Amino acid sequence: MFKSEYLNGLFKQVSERNEGQPEYLQAVEEFFEAMDFIVLSDPKIEKFGIMERIIEPERIIKFRVTWIDDTGKVNVNRGYRVQFNSAIGPYKGGLRFHSSVNESILKFLGFEQTFKNALTGLPMGGGKGGADFDPRGRSDGEIMRFCQNYMLELYRHLGPDTDVPAGDIGVGFREVGYMYGIYKKIVNESTGVFTGKGLTYGGSLVRKEATGYGLLYFVQEMLRVYRNDDLKDKKIIISGSGKVGLHAALKARELGGKVVAMSDVNGFVHDPNGLDLDIVKSLASETTEFSKKYLEYRSNATYDENPMNIWTIPCDIALPCATQNELPLESAKALVDNGCFLVAEGANMPTTLDATKHLQHADVLFAPGKAANAGGVAVSGLEMTQNAMHYPWTYAEVDEKLEVIMTEIFNKAYNEARKYTDHRNLVIGANIAGFMRVYQAMLDQGVM
Ligand code: NDP
Repeated sequence: MFKSEYLNGLFKQVSERNEGQPEYLQAVEEFFEAMDFIVLSDPKIEKFGIMERIIEPERIIKFRVTWIDDTGKVNVNRGYRVQFNSAIGPYKGGLRFHSSVNESILKFLGFEQTFKNALTGLPMGGGKGGADFDPRGRSDGEIMRFCQNYMLELYRHLGPDTDVPAGDIGVGFREVGYMYGIYKKIVNESTGVFTGKGLTYGGSLVRKEATGYGLLYFVQEMLRVYRNDDLKDKKIIISGSGKVGLHAALKARELGGKVVAMSDVNGFVHDPNGLDLDIVKSLASETTEFSKKYLEYRSNATYDENPMNIWTIPCDIALPCATQNELPLESAKALVDNGCFLVAEGANMPTTLDATKHLQHADVLFAPGKAANAGGVAVSGLEMTQNAMHYPWTYAEVDEKLEVIMTEIFNKAYNEARKYTDHRNLVIGANIAGFMRVYQAMLDQGVM
Protein backbone atom coordinates (compact mmCIF):
# COMPACT_ATOMS: atom_id res chain seq x y z
CA MET A 1 0.00 0.00 0.00
CA PHE A 2 2.79 2.45 0.95
CA LYS A 3 6.26 2.48 -0.63
CA SER A 4 7.80 2.37 2.84
CA GLU A 5 7.81 -1.03 4.58
CA TYR A 6 8.05 0.81 7.90
CA LEU A 7 4.72 2.52 7.23
CA ASN A 8 3.13 -0.69 5.94
CA GLY A 9 4.07 -2.54 9.13
CA LEU A 10 2.93 0.33 11.27
CA PHE A 11 -0.40 0.68 9.50
CA LYS A 12 -1.08 -3.03 10.05
CA GLN A 13 -0.27 -2.56 13.72
CA VAL A 14 -2.39 0.56 14.11
CA SER A 15 -5.30 -1.16 12.34
CA GLU A 16 -5.12 -4.13 14.73
CA ARG A 17 -4.78 -1.89 17.77
CA ASN A 18 -7.66 0.35 16.77
CA GLU A 19 -10.11 -2.21 15.45
CA GLY A 20 -13.60 -0.79 15.06
CA GLN A 21 -12.34 2.81 14.79
CA PRO A 22 -12.81 3.52 11.06
CA GLU A 23 -12.66 7.32 11.25
CA TYR A 24 -9.38 7.24 13.11
CA LEU A 25 -7.83 4.73 10.69
CA GLN A 26 -9.01 6.85 7.75
CA ALA A 27 -7.21 9.89 9.17
CA VAL A 28 -4.01 7.88 9.78
CA GLU A 29 -4.12 6.41 6.27
CA GLU A 30 -4.35 9.85 4.66
CA PHE A 31 -1.49 11.06 6.85
CA PHE A 32 0.70 8.03 6.04
CA GLU A 33 0.17 8.62 2.30
CA ALA A 34 1.88 11.97 2.79
CA MET A 35 4.54 10.57 5.10
CA ASP A 36 5.44 8.06 2.38
CA PHE A 37 7.14 10.95 0.59
CA ILE A 38 9.54 11.64 3.47
CA VAL A 39 10.18 8.62 5.71
CA LEU A 40 12.50 6.85 3.24
CA SER A 41 14.82 9.83 3.01
CA ASP A 42 14.93 10.56 6.77
CA PRO A 43 16.01 7.56 8.87
CA LYS A 44 15.60 9.56 12.11
CA ILE A 45 11.83 9.29 11.78
CA GLU A 46 11.99 5.51 12.20
CA LYS A 47 14.92 5.46 14.64
CA PHE A 48 13.22 7.84 17.06
CA GLY A 49 9.85 6.11 16.73
CA ILE A 50 8.27 9.37 15.61
CA MET A 51 5.41 7.73 13.72
CA GLU A 52 4.71 5.24 16.50
CA ARG A 53 4.52 8.12 18.97
CA ILE A 54 2.58 10.52 16.80
CA ILE A 55 -0.28 8.08 16.13
CA GLU A 56 -0.78 7.26 19.81
CA PRO A 57 -2.66 9.89 21.86
CA GLU A 58 -0.68 11.04 24.89
CA ARG A 59 -3.75 10.58 27.07
CA ILE A 60 -7.44 9.69 26.71
CA ILE A 61 -9.78 10.70 29.51
CA LYS A 62 -13.16 8.98 29.51
CA PHE A 63 -15.78 9.61 32.16
CA ARG A 64 -19.41 9.33 33.19
CA VAL A 65 -21.57 12.44 33.05
CA THR A 66 -24.69 12.27 35.20
CA TRP A 67 -27.34 14.96 34.96
CA ILE A 68 -31.05 15.51 35.67
CA ASP A 69 -33.48 16.38 32.86
CA ASP A 70 -36.57 18.61 33.14
CA THR A 71 -38.80 15.69 34.10
CA GLY A 72 -36.57 14.91 37.07
CA LYS A 73 -35.07 11.81 35.48
CA VAL A 74 -31.39 11.06 35.92
CA ASN A 75 -29.47 10.60 32.65
CA VAL A 76 -26.02 9.22 32.00
CA ASN A 77 -23.74 10.14 29.07
CA ARG A 78 -20.15 9.44 28.18
CA GLY A 79 -17.68 12.30 28.26
CA TYR A 80 -14.21 12.31 26.72
CA ARG A 81 -11.10 14.37 26.23
CA VAL A 82 -8.38 13.11 23.91
CA GLN A 83 -5.10 14.91 24.70
CA PHE A 84 -3.34 13.94 21.52
CA ASN A 85 -0.03 15.73 21.24
CA SER A 86 1.54 18.53 23.29
CA ALA A 87 4.88 18.81 21.47
CA ILE A 88 4.37 22.42 20.38
CA GLY A 89 2.04 23.76 23.11
CA PRO A 90 -0.92 23.09 25.40
CA TYR A 91 -3.54 20.70 24.04
CA LYS A 92 -6.01 22.72 21.99
CA GLY A 93 -9.16 21.60 20.21
CA GLY A 94 -12.91 21.76 20.44
CA LEU A 95 -15.59 19.84 22.29
CA ARG A 96 -18.31 18.11 20.28
CA PHE A 97 -21.71 17.28 21.76
CA HIS A 98 -23.53 14.90 19.42
CA SER A 99 -25.10 11.47 19.74
CA SER A 100 -22.53 10.01 17.31
CA VAL A 101 -19.51 10.96 19.46
CA ASN A 102 -17.21 8.05 20.27
CA GLU A 103 -13.50 7.40 20.74
CA SER A 104 -12.83 6.83 17.03
CA ILE A 105 -14.32 10.18 16.01
CA LEU A 106 -12.55 12.10 18.76
CA LYS A 107 -9.21 10.42 18.02
CA PHE A 108 -9.47 11.30 14.33
CA LEU A 109 -10.36 14.87 15.25
CA GLY A 110 -7.54 15.17 17.80
CA PHE A 111 -5.04 13.71 15.34
CA GLU A 112 -6.06 16.14 12.59
CA GLN A 113 -6.05 18.98 15.09
CA THR A 114 -2.39 18.35 15.96
CA PHE A 115 -1.24 19.11 12.40
CA LYS A 116 -3.82 21.84 11.83
CA ASN A 117 -2.63 23.70 14.92
CA ALA A 118 0.98 23.28 13.82
CA LEU A 119 0.10 24.82 10.45
CA THR A 120 -1.20 28.00 12.10
CA GLY A 121 2.33 28.74 13.36
CA LEU A 122 0.92 29.34 16.88
CA PRO A 123 2.07 27.39 19.97
CA MET A 124 -0.82 24.94 20.31
CA GLY A 125 -0.79 21.15 20.67
CA GLY A 126 -3.65 18.95 19.51
CA GLY A 127 -6.68 17.70 21.43
CA LYS A 128 -10.40 17.09 21.05
CA GLY A 129 -13.23 16.08 23.32
CA GLY A 130 -16.94 15.94 23.80
CA ALA A 131 -19.80 13.71 24.78
CA ASP A 132 -22.50 11.55 23.22
CA PHE A 133 -25.04 14.13 24.41
CA ASP A 134 -27.21 15.89 21.86
CA PRO A 135 -28.22 19.44 22.89
CA ARG A 136 -30.82 19.62 20.11
CA GLY A 137 -34.32 19.63 21.58
CA ARG A 138 -33.02 20.14 25.12
CA SER A 139 -34.00 23.13 27.25
CA ASP A 140 -31.45 25.73 28.37
CA GLY A 141 -31.71 24.34 31.90
CA GLU A 142 -30.95 20.80 30.74
CA ILE A 143 -28.00 21.98 28.68
CA MET A 144 -26.65 23.99 31.60
CA ARG A 145 -26.90 21.02 33.95
CA PHE A 146 -25.23 18.76 31.42
CA CYS A 147 -22.38 21.24 30.81
CA GLN A 148 -21.83 21.76 34.53
CA ASN A 149 -21.66 18.04 35.22
CA TYR A 150 -19.38 17.47 32.23
CA MET A 151 -16.99 20.10 33.62
CA LEU A 152 -17.13 18.69 37.15
CA GLU A 153 -14.86 15.96 35.81
CA LEU A 154 -13.03 17.67 32.96
CA TYR A 155 -11.90 20.77 34.91
CA ARG A 156 -9.09 18.88 36.64
CA HIS A 157 -7.46 18.11 33.29
CA LEU A 158 -7.56 21.69 31.96
CA GLY A 159 -5.53 24.85 32.43
CA PRO A 160 -4.43 27.84 30.35
CA ASP A 161 -1.03 26.21 29.81
CA THR A 162 -2.26 22.60 29.91
CA ASP A 163 -5.37 22.11 27.83
CA VAL A 164 -7.70 24.75 26.36
CA PRO A 165 -10.95 23.49 24.78
CA ALA A 166 -13.34 25.35 22.47
CA GLY A 167 -16.59 24.62 20.59
CA ASP A 168 -17.40 22.26 17.73
CA ILE A 169 -20.61 20.58 16.55
CA GLY A 170 -23.30 21.13 19.20
CA VAL A 171 -21.09 23.43 21.27
CA GLY A 172 -21.44 27.17 20.70
CA PHE A 173 -21.43 30.34 22.82
CA ARG A 174 -24.17 29.02 25.11
CA GLU A 175 -22.43 25.76 25.97
CA VAL A 176 -18.97 27.34 26.27
CA GLY A 177 -20.47 29.95 28.63
CA TYR A 178 -21.99 27.33 30.91
CA MET A 179 -18.78 25.29 30.95
CA TYR A 180 -16.51 28.27 31.50
CA GLY A 181 -18.78 29.58 34.28
CA ILE A 182 -18.59 26.39 36.34
CA TYR A 183 -14.86 25.99 35.64
CA LYS A 184 -14.20 29.47 36.97
CA LYS A 185 -16.26 28.78 40.07
CA ILE A 186 -14.39 25.57 40.85
CA VAL A 187 -10.84 26.81 40.30
CA ASN A 188 -11.51 30.40 41.46
CA GLU A 189 -9.52 31.86 38.58
CA SER A 190 -10.48 33.86 35.50
CA THR A 191 -7.98 32.24 33.20
CA GLY A 192 -8.57 31.91 29.46
CA VAL A 193 -9.11 28.20 29.69
CA PHE A 194 -11.75 28.13 26.96
CA THR A 195 -11.76 29.85 23.61
CA GLY A 196 -14.93 30.72 21.75
CA LYS A 197 -16.03 32.54 24.91
CA GLY A 198 -18.67 35.29 24.89
CA LEU A 199 -17.44 38.79 24.18
CA THR A 200 -18.45 40.00 27.67
CA TYR A 201 -16.00 37.68 29.46
CA GLY A 202 -12.84 37.37 27.40
CA GLY A 203 -13.94 36.10 24.00
CA SER A 204 -12.29 37.35 20.84
CA LEU A 205 -13.95 39.33 18.10
CA VAL A 206 -14.14 37.32 14.83
CA ARG A 207 -13.94 33.94 16.67
CA LYS A 208 -17.46 32.89 15.70
CA GLU A 209 -16.88 33.83 12.07
CA ALA A 210 -13.26 32.63 11.94
CA THR A 211 -13.52 29.13 10.49
CA GLY A 212 -15.89 30.15 7.68
CA TYR A 213 -14.07 33.39 6.94
CA GLY A 214 -10.70 31.64 7.04
CA LEU A 215 -11.97 29.02 4.62
CA LEU A 216 -12.85 31.73 2.11
CA TYR A 217 -9.49 33.49 2.56
CA PHE A 218 -7.86 30.15 1.76
CA VAL A 219 -10.07 29.61 -1.30
CA GLN A 220 -9.35 33.15 -2.44
CA GLU A 221 -5.61 32.42 -2.31
CA MET A 222 -6.05 29.13 -4.21
CA LEU A 223 -7.96 30.90 -6.95
CA ARG A 224 -5.32 33.62 -7.18
CA VAL A 225 -2.32 31.28 -7.29
CA TYR A 226 -3.68 28.43 -9.42
CA ARG A 227 -6.05 30.27 -11.74
CA ASN A 228 -5.18 33.95 -11.52
CA ASP A 229 -8.82 34.39 -10.61
CA ASP A 230 -11.06 35.48 -7.72
CA LEU A 231 -14.46 34.66 -6.22
CA LYS A 232 -16.45 37.13 -8.27
CA ASP A 233 -19.62 35.50 -9.70
CA LYS A 234 -18.51 31.98 -8.77
CA LYS A 235 -21.43 29.64 -8.07
CA ILE A 236 -20.93 28.09 -4.65
CA ILE A 237 -22.66 25.27 -2.78
CA ILE A 238 -22.23 24.78 0.96
CA SER A 239 -23.27 21.82 3.08
CA GLY A 240 -24.19 22.63 6.67
CA SER A 241 -25.49 25.94 7.89
CA GLY A 242 -24.02 25.96 11.36
CA LYS A 243 -21.14 28.06 12.65
CA VAL A 244 -18.82 27.17 9.78
CA GLY A 245 -21.26 26.93 6.86
CA LEU A 246 -23.12 30.15 7.63
CA HIS A 247 -20.00 32.30 7.99
CA ALA A 248 -18.43 30.73 4.92
CA ALA A 249 -21.54 31.77 3.00
CA LEU A 250 -21.47 35.32 4.32
CA LYS A 251 -17.78 35.79 3.46
CA ALA A 252 -18.33 34.22 0.03
CA ARG A 253 -21.01 36.82 -0.67
CA GLU A 254 -18.77 39.62 0.56
CA LEU A 255 -16.02 38.49 -1.82
CA GLY A 256 -18.39 38.49 -4.80
CA GLY A 257 -19.44 34.84 -4.91
CA LYS A 258 -23.00 33.57 -5.34
CA VAL A 259 -24.15 30.88 -2.87
CA VAL A 260 -26.76 28.84 -4.76
CA ALA A 261 -27.42 25.97 -2.32
CA MET A 262 -27.07 25.22 1.39
CA SER A 263 -28.09 22.27 3.54
CA ASP A 264 -28.85 21.19 7.08
CA VAL A 265 -29.27 17.70 8.48
CA ASN A 266 -32.82 17.43 7.07
CA GLY A 267 -32.34 18.61 3.49
CA PHE A 268 -31.09 21.42 1.28
CA VAL A 269 -32.42 24.49 -0.46
CA HIS A 270 -31.41 25.61 -3.96
CA ASP A 271 -31.84 28.88 -5.78
CA PRO A 272 -29.88 29.25 -9.06
CA ASN A 273 -30.11 33.03 -8.72
CA GLY A 274 -28.42 32.94 -5.33
CA LEU A 275 -29.85 32.41 -1.84
CA ASP A 276 -30.87 35.39 0.23
CA LEU A 277 -28.26 35.00 2.97
CA ASP A 278 -29.97 37.44 5.32
CA ILE A 279 -32.92 35.05 5.43
CA VAL A 280 -30.59 32.06 5.79
CA LYS A 281 -28.82 33.81 8.67
CA SER A 282 -31.93 34.58 10.65
CA LEU A 283 -33.46 31.14 10.04
CA ALA A 284 -30.26 29.20 10.74
CA SER A 285 -29.88 30.87 14.12
CA GLU A 286 -33.42 30.10 15.26
CA THR A 287 -34.34 26.74 13.74
CA THR A 288 -32.66 23.46 12.83
CA GLU A 289 -34.90 23.16 9.75
CA PHE A 290 -33.81 26.35 8.03
CA SER A 291 -33.67 24.92 4.51
CA LYS A 292 -37.33 23.82 4.52
CA LYS A 293 -38.52 27.04 6.17
CA TYR A 294 -36.61 29.11 3.58
CA LEU A 295 -39.32 28.28 1.03
CA GLU A 296 -41.85 30.23 3.10
CA TYR A 297 -39.82 33.36 2.31
CA ARG A 298 -38.64 32.65 -1.25
CA SER A 299 -41.02 30.52 -3.29
CA ASN A 300 -38.70 30.43 -6.34
CA ALA A 301 -36.25 28.23 -4.39
CA THR A 302 -36.51 24.43 -4.35
CA TYR A 303 -36.15 22.07 -1.42
CA ASP A 304 -34.86 18.49 -1.41
CA GLU A 305 -35.18 16.43 1.73
CA ASN A 306 -31.97 14.48 1.07
CA PRO A 307 -29.04 16.72 2.08
CA MET A 308 -26.64 14.48 0.11
CA ASN A 309 -28.28 15.56 -3.14
CA ILE A 310 -26.73 19.00 -2.72
CA TRP A 311 -23.62 17.64 -4.47
CA THR A 312 -25.62 17.14 -7.68
CA ILE A 313 -26.24 20.89 -8.02
CA PRO A 314 -24.04 22.47 -10.74
CA CYS A 315 -21.45 24.78 -9.20
CA ASP A 316 -17.93 26.16 -9.56
CA ILE A 317 -16.95 25.69 -5.93
CA ALA A 318 -18.17 23.19 -3.31
CA LEU A 319 -17.58 23.75 0.40
CA PRO A 320 -18.45 20.77 2.63
CA CYS A 321 -18.98 22.37 6.05
CA ALA A 322 -21.17 19.88 7.95
CA THR A 323 -19.51 16.70 9.18
CA GLN A 324 -17.10 13.84 8.46
CA ASN A 325 -17.57 11.61 5.39
CA GLU A 326 -20.49 13.64 4.06
CA LEU A 327 -18.97 13.75 0.55
CA PRO A 328 -18.50 10.18 -0.73
CA LEU A 329 -17.24 8.98 -4.14
CA GLU A 330 -20.57 9.19 -5.99
CA SER A 331 -20.99 12.79 -4.84
CA ALA A 332 -17.46 13.61 -6.00
CA LYS A 333 -18.34 12.13 -9.41
CA ALA A 334 -21.45 14.30 -9.61
CA LEU A 335 -19.44 17.42 -8.76
CA VAL A 336 -16.89 16.66 -11.49
CA ASP A 337 -19.59 15.85 -14.06
CA ASN A 338 -21.31 19.16 -13.31
CA GLY A 339 -18.21 21.29 -13.77
CA CYS A 340 -17.07 21.98 -10.21
CA PHE A 341 -13.39 22.98 -10.23
CA LEU A 342 -12.63 23.62 -6.55
CA VAL A 343 -13.53 21.78 -3.35
CA ALA A 344 -12.39 23.14 0.03
CA GLU A 345 -13.17 21.38 3.30
CA GLY A 346 -14.73 23.57 6.00
CA ALA A 347 -15.62 20.51 8.05
CA ASN A 348 -13.11 17.98 9.34
CA MET A 349 -12.56 15.07 6.92
CA PRO A 350 -15.90 15.56 5.09
CA THR A 351 -14.54 13.97 1.92
CA THR A 352 -13.87 10.22 1.88
CA LEU A 353 -10.41 9.09 0.71
CA ASP A 354 -11.67 7.68 -2.60
CA ALA A 355 -13.71 10.84 -3.25
CA THR A 356 -10.64 13.01 -2.61
CA LYS A 357 -8.62 10.95 -5.08
CA HIS A 358 -11.35 11.14 -7.68
CA LEU A 359 -11.46 14.93 -7.41
CA GLN A 360 -7.69 15.22 -7.63
CA HIS A 361 -7.47 12.90 -10.65
CA ALA A 362 -10.14 14.98 -12.35
CA ASP A 363 -7.95 18.06 -11.79
CA VAL A 364 -10.32 19.62 -9.29
CA LEU A 365 -8.42 21.91 -6.91
CA PHE A 366 -8.76 20.37 -3.45
CA ALA A 367 -8.11 21.96 -0.04
CA PRO A 368 -7.94 19.58 2.96
CA GLY A 369 -9.69 20.63 6.17
CA LYS A 370 -6.57 20.59 8.29
CA ALA A 371 -5.34 23.56 6.28
CA ALA A 372 -8.50 25.20 4.96
CA ASN A 373 -10.54 25.20 8.18
CA ALA A 374 -7.67 26.18 10.49
CA GLY A 375 -9.01 29.74 10.80
CA GLY A 376 -11.15 28.81 13.81
CA VAL A 377 -8.30 27.51 15.89
CA ALA A 378 -6.04 30.29 14.64
CA VAL A 379 -8.38 32.90 16.12
CA SER A 380 -8.65 30.72 19.23
CA GLY A 381 -4.89 31.09 19.49
CA LEU A 382 -5.32 34.84 19.14
CA GLU A 383 -8.00 34.73 21.86
CA MET A 384 -5.48 33.02 24.17
CA THR A 385 -2.94 35.73 23.42
CA GLN A 386 -5.46 38.49 24.16
CA ASN A 387 -6.46 36.78 27.43
CA ALA A 388 -2.82 36.45 28.46
CA MET A 389 -2.20 40.14 27.67
CA HIS A 390 -5.51 41.15 29.32
CA TYR A 391 -6.03 43.35 26.29
CA PRO A 392 -8.51 42.80 23.43
CA TRP A 393 -7.80 43.53 19.79
CA THR A 394 -10.33 45.24 17.50
CA TYR A 395 -12.40 43.37 14.93
CA ALA A 396 -10.25 44.68 12.11
CA GLU A 397 -7.01 43.68 13.87
CA VAL A 398 -8.14 40.10 14.41
CA ASP A 399 -9.63 39.76 10.92
CA GLU A 400 -6.43 41.03 9.35
CA LYS A 401 -4.33 38.57 11.37
CA LEU A 402 -6.68 35.76 10.33
CA GLU A 403 -6.27 36.57 6.66
CA VAL A 404 -2.48 36.67 7.02
CA ILE A 405 -2.44 33.31 8.84
CA MET A 406 -4.65 31.63 6.21
CA THR A 407 -2.48 32.93 3.39
CA GLU A 408 0.61 31.65 5.21
CA ILE A 409 -0.99 28.24 5.73
CA PHE A 410 -1.73 28.06 2.01
CA ASN A 411 1.88 28.98 1.23
CA LYS A 412 3.26 26.34 3.61
CA ALA A 413 1.10 23.60 2.09
CA TYR A 414 1.80 24.79 -1.46
CA ASN A 415 5.57 24.92 -0.93
CA GLU A 416 5.76 21.40 0.57
CA ALA A 417 3.50 20.07 -2.20
CA ARG A 418 5.77 21.61 -4.82
CA LYS A 419 8.87 20.22 -3.10
CA TYR A 420 7.66 16.62 -2.83
CA THR A 421 5.05 16.13 -5.55
CA ASP A 422 2.55 18.05 -7.72
CA HIS A 423 2.19 21.69 -6.58
CA ARG A 424 -1.60 21.23 -6.68
CA ASN A 425 -1.57 18.42 -4.12
CA LEU A 426 -2.35 20.39 -0.97
CA VAL A 427 -3.29 17.19 0.91
CA ILE A 428 0.31 15.99 0.77
CA GLY A 429 1.64 19.52 1.28
CA ALA A 430 -0.48 20.31 4.35
CA ASN A 431 0.27 17.00 6.02
CA ILE A 432 4.00 17.36 5.51
CA ALA A 433 4.10 21.02 6.57
CA GLY A 434 2.12 20.32 9.77
CA PHE A 435 4.12 17.20 10.54
CA MET A 436 7.51 18.90 10.15
CA ARG A 437 6.83 21.36 12.95
CA VAL A 438 5.55 18.68 15.36
CA TYR A 439 8.40 16.33 14.40
CA GLN A 440 11.11 18.90 15.07
CA ALA A 441 9.58 19.78 18.44
CA MET A 442 9.39 16.09 19.41
CA LEU A 443 13.02 15.51 18.41
CA ASP A 444 14.21 18.57 20.34
CA GLN A 445 12.41 17.51 23.53
CA GLY A 446 13.81 13.99 23.72
CA VAL A 447 12.15 10.62 24.09
CA MET A 448 9.27 10.42 26.57
P1 NDP B 1 -22.57 23.24 13.97
O1 NDP B 1 -23.15 22.26 14.93
O2 NDP B 1 -22.61 24.69 14.28
O3 NDP B 1 -23.21 23.04 12.50
C1 NDP B 1 -23.25 21.83 11.83
C2 NDP B 1 -24.17 22.00 10.64
O4 NDP B 1 -24.11 20.83 9.82
C3 NDP B 1 -25.64 22.18 11.01
O5 NDP B 1 -26.24 23.06 10.06
C4 NDP B 1 -26.21 20.76 10.83
O6 NDP B 1 -27.60 20.74 10.55
C5 NDP B 1 -25.44 20.33 9.61
N1 NDP B 1 -25.33 18.90 9.42
C6 NDP B 1 -24.97 17.94 10.31
N2 NDP B 1 -24.93 16.74 9.72
C7 NDP B 1 -25.26 16.96 8.42
C8 NDP B 1 -25.40 16.14 7.29
N3 NDP B 1 -25.18 14.82 7.37
N4 NDP B 1 -25.74 16.71 6.10
C9 NDP B 1 -25.96 18.03 6.01
N5 NDP B 1 -25.86 18.87 7.04
C10 NDP B 1 -25.52 18.33 8.23
O7 NDP B 1 -21.05 22.76 13.75
P2 NDP B 1 -19.83 23.60 13.18
O8 NDP B 1 -20.29 24.46 12.07
O9 NDP B 1 -19.09 24.18 14.32
O10 NDP B 1 -18.90 22.43 12.61
C11 NDP B 1 -19.11 21.86 11.32
C12 NDP B 1 -17.86 21.09 10.92
O11 NDP B 1 -16.73 21.99 10.90
C13 NDP B 1 -17.45 19.94 11.83
O12 NDP B 1 -16.82 18.95 11.06
C14 NDP B 1 -16.40 20.59 12.74
O13 NDP B 1 -15.52 19.64 13.32
C15 NDP B 1 -15.69 21.47 11.73
N6 NDP B 1 -14.94 22.58 12.29
C16 NDP B 1 -15.54 23.50 13.12
C17 NDP B 1 -14.82 24.54 13.61
C18 NDP B 1 -15.46 25.62 14.41
O14 NDP B 1 -14.78 26.63 14.68
N7 NDP B 1 -16.71 25.50 14.81
C19 NDP B 1 -13.37 24.66 13.37
C20 NDP B 1 -12.86 23.71 12.39
C21 NDP B 1 -13.61 22.70 11.91
P3 NDP B 1 -28.69 20.90 11.75
O15 NDP B 1 -28.58 22.31 12.21
O16 NDP B 1 -29.97 20.59 11.06
O17 NDP B 1 -28.28 19.91 12.81
